[in-house]
Amino acid sequence: MAGCGFGSNGMQVPGSDEDERDAVFMRLALDQAHNAWVLGEVPVGAVVVREGRVIATGFNQPVGSADPTAHAEIRALRAAAEILGNYRLNHCSLYVTLEPCAMCAGAIQQSRVAHLIYGAPDPKTGACGSVVDLFADLRLNHHTKVRGGVMAQECARMLGDFFAERRQRKKEQSGPDDVQEIILE
Ligand SMILES: [Zn+2]
Repeated sequence: MAGCGFGSNGMQVPGSDEDERDAVFMRLALDQAHNAWVLGEVPVGAVVVREGRVIATGFNQPVGSADPTAHAEIRALRAAAEILGNYRLNHCSLYVTLEPCAMCAGAIQQSRVAHLIYGAPDPKTGACGSVVDLFADLRLNHHTKVRGGVMAQECARMLGDFFAERRQRKKEQSGPDDVQEIILE
């Protein structure tokens, strides 16, 4: 696709190519989020992009991997660093469906990712402005540019649908014991 580079060159209609590119990669991050859902994990997904190509992916899996750090961003950053053989991801962009938490914001800064693009805001643990903004302080961050709200509705909907399904399942499980008996009769 055209216009896969960051930064304006003065030739582009402001936002259009960037929006299109970001939507493409955010959709791939949503696919990753869906992988988490299938495994019963809160559906958050991430991809790392370099020179217009996805080089690594990750999805949220703290329960299954018994690892509190197994957020989508961390998993994607680790995979990218392994592939590149370098803990610095200077020329990479990280796409994630949900606003990163403080842990992930720290990891993103350590990795020196050039661009962070996220979908839905997270009013409970978001560290890109919702609760705190760890990217706003130049003493902490002078590498990563942040863009939020990309396909925010789609990203939020996946989380909303997941929790709605979980509530529904819980409700069914805690229903009256005689329901099954009635069905069996
Ligand atoms: Zn996180």
